Amino acid sequence: MYIYNTLTRANTDIVPKKSGEISLYCCGPTVYDYAHIGNFRKYIFDDLLRRTLENAGYRVRQVTNLTDVGHLTSDADEGDDKLEKKSSTEGKSVYEIAEFYTLAFIADAEKLKLLPPNMPKSAGKNSNYLSATDYIPQMIELVEELLQKKHAYITEQAIYFDVTSIPDYGKLSGQTLESKEVGVREAVIVDSNKRHPSDFAVWFFKTGHFSSHTMSWESPWGEGFPGWHLECSAIIHATLGEPIDIHTGGVDHIGTHHTNEIAQTEAAFGQVLSHIWAHSEFVLVDGAKMSKSKGNTYKLADLEAKGFNPLAFKLLVLQAHYKKELNFTWESLQAARNTLDNLYAWADLVFQHSLLPKHETVNLDELLAFIQEQLENDLASPAAIAGMLGLTDLPLTYNQLVIATQKLESLFGLGLTDRIDITSDESKLIANREKFRKSGEFENSDNTRHQLEEKNIRVEDTVNGSRWRRIS
Ligand code: AMP
Ligand code: ZN
Repeated sequence: MYIYNTLTRANTDIVPKKSGEISLYCCGPTVYDYAHIGNFRKYIFDDLLRRTLENAGYRVRQVTNLTDVGHLTSDADEGDDKLEKKSSTEGKSVYEIAEFYTLAFIADAEKLKLLPPNMPKSAGKNSNYLSATDYIPQMIELVEELLQKKHAYITEQAIYFDVTSIPDYGKLSGQTLESKEVGVREAVIVDSNKRHPSDFAVWFFKTGHFSSHTMSWESPWGEGFPGWHLECSAIIHATLGEPIDIHTGGVDHIGTHHTNEIAQTEAAFGQVLSHIWAHSEFVLVDGAKMSKSKGNTYKLADLEAKGFNPLAFKLLVLQAHYKKELNFTWESLQAARNTLDNLYAWADLVFQHSLLPKHETVNLDELLAFIQEQLENDLASPAAIAGMLGLTDLPLTYNQLVIATQKLESLFGLGLTDRIDITSDESKLIANREKFRKSGEFENSDNTRHQLEEKNIRVEDTVNGSRWRRIS
């Protein structure tokens, strides 16, 4: 199996550090607001990667964090902490904000059938998602390490990582320090004692702009709070141990967040942070960037309010390759919903044995292997989904259909094995309609058809008898 590695700018074979096992770290959400559909594309990407690896036979140890402190509105050292800002506008404590949006995130993730992280086994308050604020001592240790090795320095406002103290800062994005310097020159450098514009805070003191910051902790250098990038390095060190096999994020993380994670870890521990860096592209809406001012940042609840199953959105995401921008439109979501309905109708044939052939004529193993192969080829999900849709036209036996839906469910998590049989009353109505039709009682037959449609069941006549399908 191989995947595109941002670090080497090439497809890279997945060769785990420990045979048969993959350590996977996925940067998680900042829990200051509902995650939007763009954010969820990233977590669907993580889910697809995890499922593909597991189906390829690896045991995957996945860690995902929840950022509940230190993420400033600028993604760098300027601006306000996103949680603190939300707490003042909503009149709730930062911990209430974090708790509320964490639960909202987990509920949405469950609706999308995203496999929850599975490391460490008993992570504590937020199922297996790890909150940054539960790792403050580990972050402080990391800062101590950096100071001791002279990769960080202290000013009155913060402790900064010295980007000139390592030879290869910026290797992930390929941006040299000189070109980056030009890029950030325009930015307001709040702290005049910061030595280089690209130096980044690993610890902010509760002073000046942040003197009323409610989240703060004692440290050997005074009360304060961690910089955003620190948590991922500290959590990886405490859970998986570096080097890990794969680290994921959105493409916007390459230049700053992941660049800084790499710098901190490599400087503090003298170890590569991750062998592979995999990044998923953005979601656009009607061809434009999602932004609050345009009113086009949709949440999962906005899709549900229009009657869409969140899994139709998951299918839409999987129909695009993760390295390409995905343009979201309501029409494209409607098309994905129709496709999902067809898949469900196919899966519901497990309840309609009599319509299925008795003898095997299809080489299912080969077709399923083809789908798996597409995914092992840099997660080529569009080809894999096309392969799955191709299966729905084939004359599979009952046993094959059961095997196929189980395998596809384990690969994609689209709800194919959660289907519910019709009730005996509905089954009687279907039998009656067929009887009426056969005896030429067309009015009765039509009435019964309408009764079924009211129950969201549509009946089609096939050579082997009536076939029902649920309509959404
Ligand atoms: P945040 O909660 O702001 O830390 O972002 C969570 C994840 O969503 C990050 O991995 C971002 O790269 C990703 N992300 C943010 N905006 C978009 C977007 N419009 N499309 C796709 N991914 C996004
Ligand atoms: Zn991170």
